[in-house]
Amino acid sequence: MKIHIKNEIVTTVDQLSNELITTSHFLHQHPELAYEERESVQHLTSLLRAHGFEIIEGIGGLPTAFVASAGVDHPSATIAFLAEYDALPSLGHACGHNLIATSSIGAALALQPSLAALEGRVLVIGCPAEEKGGGKIALVKAGLFANIDAALLVHPSNRTELFKDALAMLPLRIEFFGKASHAAAAPHLGINALDAVVLAFTNLNALRQQLRPDARIHGIITDGGRAPNIIPDYAAARFCIRALDLDYLHDLRRRVVACFEAAAQATGATVAIQEEGEEYHPMKCNRTLGALFQANLETLGEQVEQTPEDQELGSTDVGNVSQVVPTLHPTIALTDRLDVVCHSAAFAEAAGGPAGDRATLLATKALAMTAVDLFTDPARLRQVREEFQHA
Ligand SMILES: [Zn+2]
Ligand SMILES: [Zn+2]
Repeated sequence: MKIHIKNEIVTTVDQLSNELITTSHFLHQHPELAYEERESVQHLTSLLRAHGFEIIEGIGGLPTAFVASAGVDHPSATIAFLAEYDALPSLGHACGHNLIATSSIGAALALQPSLAALEGRVLVIGCPAEEKGGGKIALVKAGLFANIDAALLVHPSNRTELFKDALAMLPLRIEFFGKASHAAAAPHLGINALDAVVLAFTNLNALRQQLRPDARIHGIITDGGRAPNIIPDYAAARFCIRALDLDYLHDLRRRVVACFEAAAQATGATVAIQEEGEEYHPMKCNRTLGALFQANLETLGEQVEQTPEDQELGSTDVGNVSQVVPTLHPTIALTDRLDVVCHSAAFAEAAGGPAGDRATLLATKALAMTAVDLFTDPARLRQVREEFQHA
């Protein structure tokens, strides 16, 4: 039955391919920033509704989050496909989230006709704001992943890889408050908030030498004064701090805050430190899910690259999901060019063209086939769960 259903699903994806590519291109041509993905959500939910999915919009307190569901009422398993659909400022879909949304929805649509036979249930969880803010973190906190057996999504990349760690991350905003004065006539009456920001950077640069190699601290100055002849009474900066595990991230936070406070003390400014959004958690990879996905990908003619899992890392709110439910988050190469990397104009172009279309359909098929494995093989699903519990 399993092989038969997988063959049917591949045929169904081919039949849906026009609809799916149209969807991917629509998102690509209407890039929307984090939490503002209204047109994208409208397009995606219309497609799901047209295929008989029930939709709840605005979940977890996020207007552009949704859950679409189909399948039997008392399922043997519930599989969630995660859709991302936010774009980047000025670069558009340079992270290829149009592919993520389309392949996750495509997999759900392809499975839908077989769900009665499979005694299964599929969800598409529409997750806004991956690039900024971490929409999935709010959805995790709202309990959206509580009754799900596995969460699956594929991200486009410059390589096809199964597993990649992700760095825990905390975004911080700091503000220094000083006192304005004439910079030539009366500097002794001022307190220079910009100097405090400059010292904060200098302190952090000194701290870096004593940090573990996985730690990352990077930032920008967002306010640096208004005119060179006024001692700046206000200056601000934004930083991200990252590390492979939460314990070290929390240690890092304490040491970074000390750098900010020292800068305030040295200049006489006061400092306000704010967490700018939620804490991103590290990735908990599931080898069992990865092996299933790899076998399906190879059946479809795509080879997986073996690369170090702990290098060239970013952060993602999929990490938070992976801590509460077994999660699959592999990547599929968009092109055969290694220099076409995420968050570049070339990547955005590829994501909206034939390379993106190929990757979308491939990801759709492999995701749906992996769900078939989980629906038809209870022992394997148990293994997925046990690995998650013991990891
Ligand atoms: Zn990105
Ligand atoms: Zn991304």
